[in-house]
Formats: sequence, C-alpha cells, structure tokens
Amino acid sequence: MVGFGYDVHRLAAGETLVLGGVVLESRLGTVAHSDGDVLVHAIMDALLGALSLGDIGLHFPDTKEEWRGADSISMLKRVHHIIQNEGAHIVNIDSTIVLEAPRLRPHIDAMRARIAEAVGLDIKRVSIKATTSERLGFVGREEGVAAYAIAQVELE
Ligand SMILES: [Zn+2]
Repeated sequence: MVGFGYDVHRLAAGETLVLGGVVLESRLGTVAHSDGDVLVHAIMDALLGALSLGDIGLHFPDTKEEWRGADSISMLKRVHHIIQNEGAHIVNIDSTIVLEAPRLRPHIDAMRARIAEAVGLDIKRVSIKATTSERLGFVGREEGVAAYAIAQVELE
C-alpha cells in the first residue's frame, strides 16, 4: 500500500529550523506547536495514509499540551509502532522538501540517517530530495517551507 503526505509551516525570524530531525543554521525557523519539522510531519502522514489511519492531527492533537514543542522524531517512532501494531512494515519512503534557503544538500544524509534510525529502515530505503520554489509563491518569498512524502507500507 502507498500513502501520501504533505505539510507546510510558516517561517519567522527567531524560530528554530528543524528538518528531518536535524537542527539547521538558518535566519528563519518554523512557527509550530511542535518542533515544526515539516519533513517528518509529511512522512508521518504518508505512513498513516498508507494504512488509512487518518493523519497526524488525529494522532497528535494540537490542543494537547503533551505535544507542545514535541520532538517530531519521537512522534515518528510512535507512528512506526502504530504501523507495527497493524501488522505492517515500511518498505520505503521518498520525500521532497521545498525551501528557498539555506541550501539543504549538505544535510540530506544526516536527515536520512535520523529518519531511517527512527523507523528501523536501511538508509537506502529513505530518500530525501530538496528543491527551491524558484522565488515563486509563499516558499519563494520565504514565508514558509513545504514538504511532500510518499511511503510504501506492506501488510505482513
Ligand atoms: Zn507540521
């Protein structure tokens, strides 16, 4: 089964930018109830979507104090447990981050390692790509960051 995920967060000065569980040096960071890790959020939605289990809003409500400033990698581990409890396992994950700055290429492998470790996958099965928005739209104006993810999950 295949699942798809998409997420956006607003960017602002004085906030931290965390992507794929890696803290990045950046003039702007994400505004969010959790750590605002847009990539991990999209991946979790893809994983849940593959098994028609709703989305992260359902499993980690914004209103819950428990998830304030939450580390998205630990939320991802929780999602992995949900998948395992359904008698399923992850085959692979592919994703794309859309962000104008900073350049992400040097950090991609660190993000892949963090995510692979969190869900017990070989790093080869976790793909992360990055692109800019060519200065167009909200990403181009550096008002936000977006991420898309797709995941294959197999029932045992
Ligand atoms: Zn999010």
